[in-house]
Amino acid sequence: MSDSIIVIGAGQAAASFAARLRQNDRHCKITLIGEEPHLPYQRPPLSKKYATGDMSFDQLLLRPQDWYEQNQISCITDQRVSTVDTKTKNITLANGEVQHWDKLVFATGSRARSLPDAIGGNLESVYLLRGLKDADNFSDELVENRRVVIVGGGYIGLEAAAVCASRGLKVTLVEASERILQRVACHETSVWFRNLHTLNGVTIHEGVGLKKFEGENGKVNAAILSDGTRLEADFVLVGIGIIPNAELAIDAGLDVDGGIVANEHCQTSHPDIYAAGDCAAFQYKGELTRLESVQNAIDQAECAADNIAGEARFYHPYPWFWSDQYDVKLQIAGLNRGYDNIITRTGDREGSMAHFYFKGDQFIAVDAMNDPRTYMVGKKILEAGKNITPEQASDKSIELKSLM
Ligand code: NAP
Repeated sequence: MSDSIIVIGAGQAAASFAARLRQNDRHCKITLIGEEPHLPYQRPPLSKKYATGDMSFDQLLLRPQDWYEQNQISCITDQRVSTVDTKTKNITLANGEVQHWDKLVFATGSRARSLPDAIGGNLESVYLLRGLKDADNFSDELVENRRVVIVGGGYIGLEAAAVCASRGLKVTLVEASERILQRVACHETSVWFRNLHTLNGVTIHEGVGLKKFEGENGKVNAAILSDGTRLEADFVLVGIGIIPNAELAIDAGLDVDGGIVANEHCQTSHPDIYAAGDCAAFQYKGELTRLESVQNAIDQAECAADNIAGEARFYHPYPWFWSDQYDVKLQIAGLNRGYDNIITRTGDREGSMAHFYFKGDQFIAVDAMNDPRTYMVGKKILEAGKNITPEQASDKSIELKSLM
């Protein structure tokens, strides 16, 4: 009898896993189980092209319905897995159904952090931005001159700010840290994006927290900041980070440390259980790391699939990210953790710019704004395990390509 492979989750990692495993193994039984009532779909366009009506739900789908049928991949949607039994190798669904697995994959992803009810996080018109329903709510609010307060100056907050400002809304963004993008980028990149947003009419408050929301008849109408500032709001968007969905893994007795711990083969502390995507924590350059990116969800899930198919592959991530704000494409290669030196290099095209991150003399990452060529060269250098010096990065007479 062929093996039963169950994937908990039906997002990017789950879909990539299923496609890769089916390529490798035509006979095993593959089942994806997701809580949302949809087939796996792309999240990055939710707050952008989908919210603005430039992309339909069908275009968001990672694969159409008939692909799952043709590939004999079962998708159970709108259903929660409530327990995982590692001894009997069964899972129980919220509807009481029990299913047996030979190999299990946690592709449970993450959820958006919310603000407590005690400070008004539950008021009407306070939205998170994570799933399709959130994007539909956001989309309905995109009406010219409406006042939006965005809490959080990470990618979610800034991308939403760009969409709102471009649609003629009055946008105020509040970031608790000293600067926007502090968790993910250098000071220079933060300044670059602050200028971009300011030029587009967004008001940014940095280094100030949110004290509470106020409302009338249960609907938000203002945000009060920790310095006493009162911001009138027709609606609020909260983009203050994500929490990996690891509770089920904890209950199942798997090792969890800031994420479901997975080894270099994407295996958890149980040899027949794997983890991939936002929910998984793995060793990267000597530190337990979670990567919150589409690229990681795809690559790690494919590696898990190869291992389940018997290939004994190692997961070597080459992190890259992107963000679209107004007409700017930010592309990031590498992980800037531990950087101590930034080199700025202007690009060949007008308005293009790149920030190179160094740790000592080691080149570790690059942020490229409207500079795809520099991004691509930087990515190739990092992937090849090569190095460039800060002097080379800053010297415009040196063609970066020649250093690849
Ligand atoms: P994020 O990158 O963690 O940014 C959230 C920001 O909100 C942080 O700067 C955080 O500051 C701040 N914050 C936290 N609590 C706050 C409060 N009470 N008041 C004001 N600010 C507060 O997360 P995100 O922007 O929500 O994005 C969620 C995930 O989706 C991330 O993994 C992100 O990378 C990913 N994403 C990626 C893209 C892309 O790659 N294009 C686009 C959208 C989302 P502290 O760090 O000081 O807590």
